[in-house]
Amino acid sequence: MKVIIVGGVAGGASCAARLRRLDEKAEIMMVERGPYVSYANCGLPYHVGGVIENESSLLVASETLFRERFAVDVRTGCEAIAISPKEKKVKLRSVKTGEVTEHAYDKLVLSPGAASIRPPLPGIDLPGIFQVRTVPDARQIKEWIEARRAGGRPMRAVVVGGGFIGLEMAENLVHLGVGVTLVEMAGQVLPPVDEEFARLVKDRLESHGVRLALGDGVAAFEEAGNGAIDVRTKSGKAHRGDLVILALGVRSDTALAKAAGLQIGERGGIRVDDQMSTSDPDIFAVGDAVEVRDFVTGEWSLVALAGPANRQGRIAADVIAGRNSRFRGTQGTAIVGLFGAAIAWTGVSEKTLKSLGDSDYEKIYIYPSSHAGYYPGARPIAMKVLYRKSDGRLLGAQAFGEDNVDKRISALAVALQMGATIHDLEEAELCYAPQFGSAKDPVNFAGMVAANAMSGDMPLIHWDAAKTGFLLDVREPGELAADPMPRALNIPVGQLRGRLGELPRDHAIHVFCRSGQRAYLAVRILLQHGFEARNISGGMLSYATVDQTVKQSD
Ligand code: FAD
Repeated sequence: MKVIIVGGVAGGASCAARLRRLDEKAEIMMVERGPYVSYANCGLPYHVGGVIENESSLLVASETLFRERFAVDVRTGCEAIAISPKEKKVKLRSVKTGEVTEHAYDKLVLSPGAASIRPPLPGIDLPGIFQVRTVPDARQIKEWIEARRAGGRPMRAVVVGGGFIGLEMAENLVHLGVGVTLVEMAGQVLPPVDEEFARLVKDRLESHGVRLALGDGVAAFEEAGNGAIDVRTKSGKAHRGDLVILALGVRSDTALAKAAGLQIGERGGIRVDDQMSTSDPDIFAVGDAVEVRDFVTGEWSLVALAGPANRQGRIAADVIAGRNSRFRGTQGTAIVGLFGAAIAWTGVSEKTLKSLGDSDYEKIYIYPSSHAGYYPGARPIAMKVLYRKSDGRLLGAQAFGEDNVDKRISALAVALQMGATIHDLEEAELCYAPQFGSAKDPVNFAGMVAANAMSGDMPLIHWDAAKTGFLLDVREPGELAADPMPRALNIPVGQLRGRLGELPRDHAIHVFCRSGQRAYLAVRILLQHGFEARNISGGMLSYATVDQTVKQSD
């Protein structure tokens, strides 16, 4: 059996290695247009920032290793330019010599990835405008910065695009002492997360000196003298940089597949089934180039992440080798580091649920410590967990903090893929010693809070609806001065039992404290004394990130 794999990085390389392990006899050829196979594009921003010092560290597995250890016929600097599905042949062209050769296959695997979006705006080809996709891209950015640094003047950069690559580049440029302005067309950074979590990210970026220009798209790039570039936005503003990083997202590379007549999906990726088979049964496709089912919503989606690409490459190899492996769909689990903090998420966001018209969900906000508060170094984690109102099934989670955010979202991601409910989170048995977690880990805590809400032990409400009701603040008076809440009646939770007479019996009482924990006790007291009471999820901590429109009702 002859298998040709197009693309030699995440999906392609993982497919080649797996296939060799399963089939010693297969003839495997892996063609890669660029100069390297199996390089760590995820590490590129950190190489630019000097965290990963040597370029060679980015080369995870070499061409030689693939040849010697896996007996794969690797061809770098070699581009697949056409497929004839009927004849089962691929045309390859040498990037160096232009020589074209034709090769027959029994199975073909496409893992061509995605191309960085480069809109045809005036000035887009000016020197000093870079994308971050390949090792040579990172090298060019480093050389550009070093050459200008030699002049001794402070440098400025404009990063266009507030997705995870834009944020990672912003952080790494700041590490290098470069002043950064980040321009983003949407009203928030990181489109996959909900607005209130994007606000936490925005605050973090700003507190480290990144200037943000949100809600303003780029219109043109203009020469500004001395080698500088003005990034002109639609609102007419100009942001000056000595270099510009384009991080506007990616577009699935479907050129070969389209020309070969393979089915392309509604989102613009190659359409595959759960065995990574395209509309031609002898052609497989994996990675950034394909559309996959969203694990939670079942909708087709494009997810450009390394984990799914690697798993899909492996599944394609399994299927080619005669095994019955299937891809489960993607949850979009991801994490981004931000100046010592991190934001991570898995599953569906609230805005996606809203856009689908899905109202059978509830959300909770919690702010647990990353580990036992009495052990040094504990940091708060802001978490939002979404679950089905009707059956408690976990739908998605987002978390932001400085310590062990990844651990919590990774645990929730596994739970979500296993179809867990909030009751499973309550019962999850997780690692605990004081320096690592709490006897009630944040993951347990999320389950317990949600289960209390679901059972009616602790009816929940959120700030957008709560502001119109009777507000009861159960914090201590000392806390109010630093963080006041107009219109709320303050009765510290310790005095509540003795002051019930001050509360209305004909209105629902919306209770809050700093994070929701004391308000939970207050709600329990009130319910058992016959009041209608609800806990405002996340208390003052979630209020800090709610929409301005909610705050304006003060
Ligand atoms: P790629 O890994 O991009 O490989 C595709 C290869 O195919 C390319 O090398 C290309 O040259 C080659 N190719 C294309 N067409 C042809 C052709 N016709 N002939 C021959 N070769 C061809 N994901 C994460 O999960 N976490 C991260 O932290 C993260 N960070 C990232 C940071 C950066 C800067 C970038 C660019 C990406 C990052 N990603 C991250 C995304 C992740 O790298 C991709 O999702 C993953 O590499 C996709 O794998 P793939 O095999 O589909 O495509």
